[in-house]
Amino acid sequence: MLHRSFTEEQHMFRDAYRKFLAVEIVPHMESWREAGIVDREAFLRAGERGFLMVWPDEVYGGMGDPDFRFEQIIIEETTYARAADWYNTLHSRLVGPYLTRFGNEQQCQRMLPGCVSGEKILAIAMTEPDAGSDLAGMRCAATEYDDHWLLNGSKVYISNGINADIVIVAAKTDPDNNPHHMTLFLVERGMEGFERGRNLKKMGLKAQDTAELFFNDVKVPKANVLGEPGKGFHYLMEGLAEERLLGAVGYLSAAQLSWDLTLEFVQQRKAFGKPIAAFQNTQFKLAELRTELDFAQAFVDQCVAAFNVGKLTAVDAAKAKLATSELQVKVADVGVQLHGGAGYMDEYPISRQYTDAKISTIYAGSSEVMKIIISRDFLGEDYLPFNIRNF
Ligand SMILES: Cc1cc2nc3c(=O)[nH]c(=O)nc-3n(C[C@H](O)[C@H](O)[C@H](O)COP(=O)(O)OP(=O)(O)OC[C@H]3O[C@@H](n4cnc5c(N)ncnc54)[C@H](O)[C@@H]3O)c2cc1C
Repeated sequence: MLHRSFTEEQHMFRDAYRKFLAVEIVPHMESWREAGIVDREAFLRAGERGFLMVWPDEVYGGMGDPDFRFEQIIIEETTYARAADWYNTLHSRLVGPYLTRFGNEQQCQRMLPGCVSGEKILAIAMTEPDAGSDLAGMRCAATEYDDHWLLNGSKVYISNGINADIVIVAAKTDPDNNPHHMTLFLVERGMEGFERGRNLKKMGLKAQDTAELFFNDVKVPKANVLGEPGKGFHYLMEGLAEERLLGAVGYLSAAQLSWDLTLEFVQQRKAFGKPIAAFQNTQFKLAELRTELDFAQAFVDQCVAAFNVGKLTAVDAAKAKLATSELQVKVADVGVQLHGGAGYMDEYPISRQYTDAKISTIYAGSSEVMKIIISRDFLGEDYLPFNIRNF
């Protein structure tokens, strides 16, 4: 029997958040999907109720409780409620911590309270048309002047790209062209030369705005440099273990939902006079997946516990990301198969589970990149096909 460890307070937090989702978020998801973007109100409503950014200190409006399990609850519940494409976690826990981790007091005081309340929405922009897995290949660049940097370039596939008020933009900043010399800039809505391109149409996660961003001679004040110039690449790598843990928690919850939806369906649907659940093929498939889900949950919960005491390694986070994202895709695939034709229809939620799942093995570091990280750990750098310092 899988034992999961949450405190009484966390159980109450889960109940309250679940109710919040049911009333304030879930009823709007379909119209947000049609619009291709979540209404900004969603962030404000979550902010009002204290569910948006729970981790910052009380002085910034947060709960000041660093226990990752609160975040785990938010991600699990949001995903299980089929609201993963609200993308609150990208704002709250993936991008938000960059401010406290690398930002100065003045930046935190100016920006964090609005992020906690939901008035300001966050995004992070690394990927470019010619640079995804290979971040060092980016072309976006900034040149230093007396009181500002001049930023030029473009980014693509940026989550919350249309809604974002503050975008952390990674750009090359070395006049000598060292590919790993990057700086992170806090680019704000309204800065001259900062423009949004298309809100891109996607296979899944339809409510989430994924956009192109353009920077044409954007004058970024020095006060908007995040951390030290030149250390951006290192900062991005530092956040990756946490980012992959966030991902793993969500992918697993999505996989769990697909399994539950399928279990319910196969008990109701009949063929040859019997429920689909009565066929041994169905039972064996579901039994295999049930086992894999429980194993994955135990590993992810262990990663959360390790993260809470500062001991989650990049390699374990990569294993968690790899296993859960692949499992999410697999459970959705089996789920659609066991639904038959119904599984291909929009009106059956398993269909969306399938199209939403595929991106999990690609972003936040693809499965191939995760395998490089894991094999580098047991083989060492000598066996790498080329000099990879990017992951
Ligand atoms: C919905 C969505 C949201 C996103 N949100 C954001 C965001 O908010 N911010 C942001 O910056 N980016 C975002 N991205 C971009 C995402 O992180 C990249 O798409 C991802 O990193 C992969 O990069 P790529 O698309 O350039 O693929 P590529 O890097 O071109 O990879 C193509 C294929 O080659 C494989 N490959 C690459 N290198 C190797 C190697 N060394 N060995 C073996 N195989 C390799 C990859 O695994 C993949 O299968 C988002 C993407 C999507 C689709």
